[in-house]
Amino acid sequence: CIDARAWSIDDMSLFGSLADHLSVAIEHAELHQERERQAVIDGLTGVANRRSFNEMLAREFERAKRYEQPLSLVLIDLDHLKKINDTYGHQAGDEAIKSIGSVLRQSSRSVDLPARYGGEEFCVLLPNTELDMAEQLAERLRRLINDVCLPDAGNISASIGVATYPHHADDPDILLKRADEALYVAKQSGRNQVKTSTARVDN
Ligand code: GH3
Ligand code: MG
Repeated sequence: CIDARAWSIDDMSLFGSLADHLSVAIEHAELHQERERQAVIDGLTGVANRRSFNEMLAREFERAKRYEQPLSLVLIDLDHLKKINDTYGHQAGDEAIKSIGSVLRQSSRSVDLPARYGGEEFCVLLPNTELDMAEQLAERLRRLINDVCLPDAGNISASIGVATYPHHADDPDILLKRADEALYVAKQSGRNQVKTSTARVDN
């Protein structure tokens, strides 16, 4: 190794086969990483998928209880998606869904956890966030969504429900239910608005 010498045919074939093995190993590692990413990220919008949201909700609820911190949940549903689909096509509906994903990705604080909960329904989990702050965030999201102007469908809007632990629920499923009820009230009250749960934790 001290004296300079030319590569032998054997050296070159050894390094050639090492490089082949390495490139296959790197390719497998990249595929594995991509598969792990796909398991938690929603393909259309780039935010967390429902499965990963459910895990985050359970984990954050435990944490909130242990450290006696509030935990807020904002549930967002695109208004009149069926009409957008029927009028401008499914692709335009997808664009509307995507635009909500991008509003959530761009406007969330680093601690917020945005996710696509279902077809046109999104949620943002807000660790250590009191109700009044969650309401302000929800109102900001509503305005940002309403400012979106799509090439075909034009302006879109969303209705939003807010619920907070410990005010409205003391269990993750009930928190979701309370936010969903508030969202329903927002729809019934004319859409494009934020409503907060009126439930008490003991009912
Ligand atoms: P509302 O304001 O009450 O929420 O009305 P809406 O039309 O948004 O809600 P509705 O529940 O009546 O219809 C939802 C529609 O969303 C029906 C379904 O085909 C469509 N949808 C669900 N997921 C997707 C999706 O990924 N892409 C598109 N383009 N449409 C979707
Ligand atoms: Mg809808």
